[in-house]
Amino acid sequence: MFEKILIANRGEIACRVARTCRRLSIRAAAIYSEADNGALHTTLCDEAWRLGAAPARESYLRGERILEIARASGAEAIHPGYGFLAENADFAQACADAGLVFIGPPAAAIAAMGSKSAAKRLMGEAGVPLVPGYHGEAQDPDTLAQAARETGYPVLIKPTAGGGGKGMHRVDEADAFADALAAAKREAAASFGDDRMLIEKYLLEPRHIEIQVFADRHGGVVHLFERDCSVQRRYQKVLEEAPAPGVSESLRREMGQAAVQAAQAIGYVGAGTVEFIVEPGGAFYFMEMNTRLQVEHPVTEQVTGLDLVEWQLRVAAGEHLPLVQADLALRGHAFEARVYAEEPRNAFLPAPGRLRHLRTPPAGPHVRIDTGVRAGDTISVHYDPLIAKLIVWDLNRAGALRRLRHALAQFQVTGASTNLEFLQRLAGHPAFAAGELDTGFIVRFRNDLLPPLRRASDRVLALACLAVLLRNDETARRQAAASSDPYSPWHRTDGWVLNDDNHHTLHFHDDHGDIAITAHYRPDHYLLDLPGGTLRARGTLEGGADIRTELDGMQITATVVQRDTELTVLCEGFSHRLLLHDPLTVGMEDEIREGSLKAPMPGTVVQLLVAPGDKVTEGQPLLVLEAMKMEYTIKATTDGIIELIGFKEGDQVQEGAELLAIASK
Ligand code: ADP
Repeated sequence: MFEKILIANRGEIACRVARTCRRLSIRAAAIYSEADNGALHTTLCDEAWRLGAAPARESYLRGERILEIARASGAEAIHPGYGFLAENADFAQACADAGLVFIGPPAAAIAAMGSKSAAKRLMGEAGVPLVPGYHGEAQDPDTLAQAARETGYPVLIKPTAGGGGKGMHRVDEADAFADALAAAKREAAASFGDDRMLIEKYLLEPRHIEIQVFADRHGGVVHLFERDCSVQRRYQKVLEEAPAPGVSESLRREMGQAAVQAAQAIGYVGAGTVEFIVEPGGAFYFMEMNTRLQVEHPVTEQVTGLDLVEWQLRVAAGEHLPLVQADLALRGHAFEARVYAEEPRNAFLPAPGRLRHLRTPPAGPHVRIDTGVRAGDTISVHYDPLIAKLIVWDLNRAGALRRLRHALAQFQVTGASTNLEFLQRLAGHPAFAAGELDTGFIVRFRNDLLPPLRRASDRVLALACLAVLLRNDETARRQAAASSDPYSPWHRTDGWVLNDDNHHTLHFHDDHGDIAITAHYRPDHYLLDLPGGTLRARGTLEGGADIRTELDGMQITATVVQRDTELTVLCEGFSHRLLLHDPLTVGMEDEIREGSLKAPMPGTVVQLLVAPGDKVTEGQPLLVLEAMKMEYTIKATTDGIIELIGFKEGDQVQEGAELLAIASK
């Protein structure tokens, strides 16, 4: 076994690998970009080496520099994690040439699977079933359009170098093909530096089921069963589970054998995943093989009781696989929910930000949290917006799902928008509970999963009021204690100073408008005039953001995070943001120029579709912004004439920057 390795990654996966290293007493060196100075992963390793500036190209993708660090640190091997250089055959080869062990498959196996087209040709030859389509060399638009016609619409355009669902476009009719191809090529060139495409028949209501495989250098190959990753948005996984519900023993065996065959066909070594797309009738087709550890590997660990990173290290050190197929068994059921900083209501776009408050459910035998951030850390625009992976386990699916719902309800984040409520609704959906899964699940149940935003409930408003009143009270008490006249009426907070019938009105504002709530002071409680009636409330501050409350006799502890005038009430797994405002300043905050178009997030302007003076109509695409390797089209909010363009192609923009202005006609 190795004495020391270098972890060539960041975030939760670097932390994950570091934990196994600690357990096995293997020393670990971390690397970090400017944006990750002091990040959690650097503190879990024995040492941390500075790489370069924040953008991945200048840090985590600098293979040469990483090899230099590995040599300087005395590491014998490099664990690439996932993403960045994990599936870069040249990097794996460069490691081998430098006398370092790449903790992954041989460069040739990565290369064989690196192109989805080449992989499909190889798997086709090995007799593994493929989705109908085109995976040839010729890439001119006419050939691809012809291939789409022959395959039959709907089709899926897929970057051959793809990953993470980036650059994939479904096309339903010939007319839309050319535009979709152009967008796919732009995104693929930006993400992978390679804009070659393949065409596949777009399958309806399929499931994504993948098989974890493991191989050693001595000819041993096993599979560790399947994971169902059908619940996806933008072709990216959000919620995964093992085993896949409703999969029979015979289908499991068949898919497992096909995956083992695929691994054998390319002389595979290490951890890999063979992804299949499965039709409702159970027919399965090879999609691709990922030659690395997957984000969702923890669900396999939970149901097999194994540490896959330990297996990777053992295999890379030349050991035999720790177990043979006959020793492997499934136990219980596991889910993984990916908690992202994103806006589910805005096409699930990444929503970077500083995590001012972060509280994860307590970990234990049933709950596991894999994260790379702490409260106060920033989810940066430069990398994946994952906050944490929440993994739960129980003896059966229903039990594990209940644990998932409970744990999600305890997960609290403020400072960045998250998908937590969306995950809650997903985990609570009857069709999900019934295991009715396919890749269209989220789109089909969109209205249930993303219902219209509701007004703050009386309970939320009561909690917000209590938090403000109790904190004011505490501040006044502290000031009184420090003052020369502790009995001065100016330190009283029972409403006396403000008016003589002992009440005070608080003004809140949220997406639905203004809400005024009057609090009447009573000796040991408040009476709150809420939209639904009067409520008797009292409470105590519990330290931090927690308050212990009693609302009409019902006692609960809730969390109300306050930052300046912004209050976030976190209660029963849902969060509600309110602005506490002074009625004198009403109207100031809504002063946004009509027709102005602001950047919804920090990013790069990749394409300008209009010029100053152009006449535009509402809904017309004006500018393409790329953020976190995704394209976002800014459209005209009104008919008019382009008055101003604030940036040129290639410019970086900050969130909220005014991109263009339209003068109404
Ligand atoms: P990536 O490598 O970018 O993740 P994949 O080839 O693994 O891309 O596909 C990602 C997801 O896209 C799949 O899990 C599935 O939901 C969907 N998908 C892929 N191919 C097809 C297809 N032919 N028909 C329908 N959906 C597909």
